Amino acid sequence: MATLDIRNLDKHYGAFHALRDINVGIESGEFLVLVGPSGCGKSTLLRAIAGLESVSGGQILIGGRDISRIEPFDRGVAMVFQNYALYPHMTVRQNMGFALKVARQPKAVIDAAVQRAAEILRIEAQLDKKPKALSGGQKQRVAIGRAITRSPEVFLFDEPLSNLDAALRSQMRIELGRLHAQLGATMVYVTHDQTEAMTMASRIVVLRDGEVEQIGSPLELYNRPARRFVAGFLGSPRMNFIQARVRSSTGRIVSLDAPHLDTGAGNAPSLDITLAPDAAVPAPGAPVVVGIRPEAFADGAGVGWQLNGTVAVVESLGRDTLLYIDTGPLRAFDSESLEGYFAVHRTRQMDARHGDAVSVRIDPRHVYLFDDERAIAWPERADD
Ligand code: ATP
Repeated sequence: MATLDIRNLDKHYGAFHALRDINVGIESGEFLVLVGPSGCGKSTLLRAIAGLESVSGGQILIGGRDISRIEPFDRGVAMVFQNYALYPHMTVRQNMGFALKVARQPKAVIDAAVQRAAEILRIEAQLDKKPKALSGGQKQRVAIGRAITRSPEVFLFDEPLSNLDAALRSQMRIELGRLHAQLGATMVYVTHDQTEAMTMASRIVVLRDGEVEQIGSPLELYNRPARRFVAGFLGSPRMNFIQARVRSSTGRIVSLDAPHLDTGAGNAPSLDITLAPDAAVPAPGAPVVVGIRPEAFADGAGVGWQLNGTVAVVESLGRDTLLYIDTGPLRAFDSESLEGYFAVHRTRQMDARHGDAVSVRIDPRHVYLFDDERAIAWPERADD
């Protein structure tokens, strides 16, 4: 297993700049997940590492060796595709051993490698079947097995679970985690699914419009997103955002107003937030964005903003309940529900119904603050 270094990587498709100065260093044995919305460039980056796309500039090094301009087969990588890409006329055994056969390995070596991979993936019983006789999950295991038999220095996965149903997807997430631990392999995994990124990655790279937004461990990105885009991308339901305005500031403490946040007395309290030590203090009147995760709303009276509204939608998840709250003219913006309801996650069963009056509180110690895009304050403890 090897390190992977991506240095100043650029990719143009004609006039279109698909990857812009990408720099990522991947440790040996890391499980790195590339995540981002459709079209952000994650597949292009993975395909550039695999050698299936040429690069316009920069370097890709595996174990210190510059592989950016050598043939795909000689790079020491193996790729697993979303659509499995199995040869239909070959058995599972032949599919899994194919690359070793092309490399003119002796039959005994091929048989041993196929057997070992089949045992790891628990598909020994399928070895003599053709792909058409397999379920989607079994096909995906064969595609992974084909990568394992090549003993690559780096495994590349391009959305390998997106064709599977929800139950199989969560099972395969666990299996891929186990496989990674067992092989100790360097893996790069592309997905647009934030749950896969959060649960499987040792580190996540969030891409947007061909650029790296932020790199970090799942909890680093969840707890301390550097930008609003990252804050909104990781977490389900996503973070609630409120457009606010600076009323005044004293030292590192800013007091915020939000339009339509009136408790009835005609004078809503401000939300007083302590900024990060290196943040620039926004001027009075400046627009800012307050972020609060669905699980971070407080109950009962106390400091901060009280949101009074009605329950618009209830989702009972068994142990947990998700409430979508309609707060009248005060709207969450850029929210999961088009109507701008606030998403509230409660870790209990609730007997709530559409139209019930509800009140939740935004405690200033539990919020994120953005000066539009950049984060300037985070919660004291995100899991508080
Ligand atoms: P998705 O999740 O939808 O697969 P992605 O993040 O993997 O998206 P890419 O497939 O890497 O996105 O594409 C990045 C951008 O490059 C897109 O805007 C896409 O239209 C463009 N692109 C990809 N391949 C080509 C090509 N061969 N020619 C021109 N533009 C391309």
